[in-house]
Parts: sequence; C-alpha cells; structure tokens
Amino acid sequence: MKNLSIVAPYLGRARNVAILGLVAAILFGCASTTPPTVEAPAAPAPVDTNFVHATATSFDSGMVVCAHPLAAAAGRKVLASGGNAMDAALASLAMLNVVEPHASGLGGGGFALYYDKSADSVYMLDYRERAPKRMDRTIYFQPEDTLKLVQRMGGTAILVPGAAAGWQQLHRRFGTRTLPDLFADAVAVADTGYVISEKQAAIIFEHVEDLQKDTLQASIFLEDSLPPIAGFRITQPRLGKLLSFLSKTRLENFYFPPYSTEVVAAIRSHGGQVTESDLNAYQPVERKPLRVKYRDYDIITTSPPAGGGLVMLETLKLLEAYDIKSMGLLSPEYIHTVSTAIRKARTDGSAWIGDPDFARIPVDTMLSPTYLTQIRDSLPNDTVPQKLAPLDSIRAFGPGNTTHLVVADKDGNLVSITQSLNYFFGSGVMVPELGLLLNNHLADFNSDTTSSNPIAPNRRPSSSMAPTIILKNGEPVLVIGTPGGPRIPAAMVEVILAVLEFGVPLNEALDLPRFFPAGTNLVYETRLPQQTLDALAAKGWKPYPMEPISNYFGGVQAIHFPDSGPHMIGSSDPRRDGAANGY
Ligand code: GLU
Repeated sequence: MKNLSIVAPYLGRARNVAILGLVAAILFGCASTTPPTVEAPAAPAPVDTNFVHATATSFDSGMVVCAHPLAAAAGRKVLASGGNAMDAALASLAMLNVVEPHASGLGGGGFALYYDKSADSVYMLDYRERAPKRMDRTIYFQPEDTLKLVQRMGGTAILVPGAAAGWQQLHRRFGTRTLPDLFADAVAVADTGYVISEKQAAIIFEHVEDLQKDTLQASIFLEDSLPPIAGFRITQPRLGKLLSFLSKTRLENFYFPPYSTEVVAAIRSHGGQVTESDLNAYQPVERKPLRVKYRDYDIITTSPPAGGGLVMLETLKLLEAYDIKSMGLLSPEYIHTVSTAIRKARTDGSAWIGDPDFARIPVDTMLSPTYLTQIRDSLPNDTVPQKLAPLDSIRAFGPGNTTHLVVADKDGNLVSITQSLNYFFGSGVMVPELGLLLNNHLADFNSDTTSSNPIAPNRRPSSSMAPTIILKNGEPVLVIGTPGGPRIPAAMVEVILAVLEFGVPLNEALDLPRFFPAGTNLVYETRLPQQTLDALAAKGWKPYPMEPISNYFGGVQAIHFPDSGPHMIGSSDPRRDGAANGY
C-alpha cells in the first residue's frame, strides 16, 4: 500500500472523517452512498505503485536541478569553479539541448527568471517564439484538416525560435564566464555522444514513425531505423558544431546567414512561411515579472505571454482565503476546492491571456481582492458547476513536453527557466545542416480568430509556462517550475501547497498523486484512494484515470530552502528524468 503510505501522514481531518464513516458502515451495516455514474474509461488495473521515488539531495553552496544528470553536472562544474547561477544555467541549457534534444534548445524558446541577490530584484526575459511578419492565415483553416495538423506539425507550425537571442541576452546581462567555456561540455557530449535512459527510449519509441520519415533524424535517434533501448548512444556532431561556432562568435549569429538561410530553407521546404527577415528581426523582451503575496510568501513568476504564472497566482490567491490545512492533504474537500480554483483561473486565463504587446490583459483585476471575493461568493461550495467554461479538450489534454531548470549559487542568486520546442521533437522538422529540431509553437495559438490569442503575424502565442521563485522576508524558500502544458499551473499549485501549507518534504511532495480539472472531468493518478474518488464523484466530478504515475502531470524541478538558506534541498519529479547536483 505504498500509495497510502505516501499520503497518510498528511491526510488530517478528512481521512479521519472517511475512516469513521467506513467504520460506521462496517459496524452498522450502512450501505455507502452510490456515486453517480460517470462516463470515464475504466481505471487501469492493477494499480502499480512501484516507481522510483523522488530523492532529496542537499547542498550548502550551490546547486542545479534539471531534467538530465549530464546537464546538472555541467552546471555544477560551473558553480563549483566560481561561476554564478546564470553561468551555470547557460551551461546546463546548452547541455539540455544536446541530451534532451526533443524537448528544448536553439530551435525553440522559453522564459527566464533571475533573482539578483545583491540588487534584491527579479529580472524576467521572454524569449518566446514569434510568428512571422507575413502569414497567409487561410492555410491554417482548411476544412479537410479536421485535426488541425497544419497548426501542429511540419513547417507551418514553426515560429521564429527565440533561444539563441534569449541565451545571449541572459549572458550579456548576468554572465561572468565566456560562452565557449560554458558550452564546452555540451559541445563535447554532442560529439562523443550520451546514452539514453529508459524514459528517453520510451519517448523515441512513441515518435518512431515520424522519425523514420526523415533520414537524418532516423540516423540520430534510431538504431537501424528501429527504436533503440536504454543504453543506446546518441551523437550529434552537427549540433555540436553549431553550439561551438555560435558560442565562439555571438549566439545571435543564429539569426543571420548562413544559419538563417539554412533554417528558413528547412521551414519553407516543409510548407512554412518564416523568412530570413523574420529571423533577423527577432528580439527577446524584458518584462516585469508578477509578484504577489501569498500568506507570508512573495511569489514571483513570469507574466504573459507566459500565462501559466498568472493562472497559478489567481488559483493561489483564491485558495488563500480557505483553511487549506484543516481540509487534509488530498482529502476530497481539498481536491475539490483546489480543482475548482484551478478550473476558474484557467477559464479566465483562456479568455484573456495572449501576447501583451497586442492584447490588453486584465492582470491586476484577475488578482484583485474584490474580484477574488466575487468569484468565491459565486462558486458553489460543494458541487461542480457544469458550465463554468466549456472544456477545451485540445488544450486540456494536449501534450506538455518541455523542460525546466532551477539553479542557486553561493551568493544567493537564483534562476528558474522553462524552455520548450512545444511537443516532443517539436514540429518534426530538423534543419539538416545544423542537426537542430525546430519548435511547433504555432499550436499554442488559439484557433478562434476572435480570441485573445489568435494565430496572427508577429505575435507570441500564450504559454502555460510558469517558472517561479518564492521568497519569505527576502530569503529564498522555493525555486520551482515544470513542463506539463496546460497542467503546469495545477502541478505548481499542488506542489507549492504540499510544501508550504502542509510542510511535506519537497521530494515527497513531488511523489504525491496529482490531479487536474479539465472541465468537469477530474483527471487523476490512480494512486488516489477509491473512497476519495467516490466522494469527488458524489460532488459532480467525473473521475478520469491516468496511470498510477504519469508524465502527463509534468516534471517538476525544484530547490527548497527549508531554513531560509543557505542549506538547500533539490529534487526532480519522478515522472520524468532529472537530477540535482551541487557542492
Ligand atoms: N507549449 C507549452 C506552453 O508554452 C509548453 C509547455 C509544455 O509543453 O510543458 O505552454
């Protein structure tokens, strides 16, 4: 019963009530209330709760936590030799491009937060991909393309990548080491190769048909055109050459010939519309991060177009008025209250979030006490409204295939960065000369042309990413972020509440079963006890089982400072690969 043993210490009042009910039913022969019939797939059985649990890794000077041990090691090496948190982050990001090439890299974009301890300020950089200046938008709305493949795959789905300009800007602002130094390990691993994990082998297996269609990608990721097993070595000399050359000149050279010519040729040969002048014009944008008080904590996260931060904050501010702790962690009341708040915040996010350079986003209103009180007053306490918002099935169930990295250094500087190609392997298009996969972030626009996030020239699509830094009295408490597409804010809220409200150690908080409200569906990991699900179904949720533990719910990377620093504990989500390394 590993599932219960994880949760048991934190269950609190709700568990006692449930146990009393169960005891009463046994003693007095009461039939339990039959939950309403729900339309959902049968829960996968048997429930296997054996998974490799998250571990807690402690250091006192500095550490990196991210989605691959080689990337964490590259960052650690920089920290231990005196580099700062941003130097380490850049070394790790370059390595992630090599060892997790399907998830992030120069072909994609992201959002960065940097807490500069000496200035006591948080800097945000938006290097989200951007739509081309000229777009024939009719190609995205072809009646026969019922699955909207043209928005998700191939050249038409590719937006101008932002990572090269973003990394250069982060280095220019905060870096203290040279880029060739910082990228040297990544270049070496691209040349000599790395061996894939079981999880990466599974990801390749899922994409084998697409990989087989491209000779170059097949030669990199497959073994004799077939999916490899764990232990297979991947080498990427072309990518190594790209990283090496760009680091020795300027990363922004990516946007000029010969690179821009090669990138544009690859996009256009797959039907896309990005031009060389779109690449030449790409600029990252410094934005003001969002900062709100949640109880005694300062929660700082990215602002739109990284809308995941805003959805997370609206959820937490809605929940702040409740005595969350007395509900009992993962009790039906807790899951119901948290899910209702997430659902409402997501509804507002879908309606309003877009590119702030084009759309007015009522950020202040969404976080204002008046509005939050109004929502609380309007939501029923114990039932699930049918019509809070229509379930947007693509965004609710779509993939979340990104990467997150957190760093802390000896001087108290912190980094939290989320980066993505969008889907694993992005658009499926690789620039042949560069061995570089390109994003499919056009899929993050809304197909509704009247929405706040329409497919339109020069725009950045809204994102669920939410890299976050939490301080208390000016000292770090939690540095955290995750992939997971639309589930990002939910995963963040669940881990943050477990750690800050219930005092669950970070690694155990990452192990806890997750849930996600998609309309009235409650998608959940099947380690939740049946009586909890029955109680939720009785309120009106339609339980929708995933696996006991599923990468659908993200892959959190986080550092916790249990005593307000400098002692730090890092942990990686067991749902994906990850590692903490430091000194
Ligand atoms: N395309 C997603 C977004 O920006 C990436 C996040 C993810 O897949 O985890 O919201």
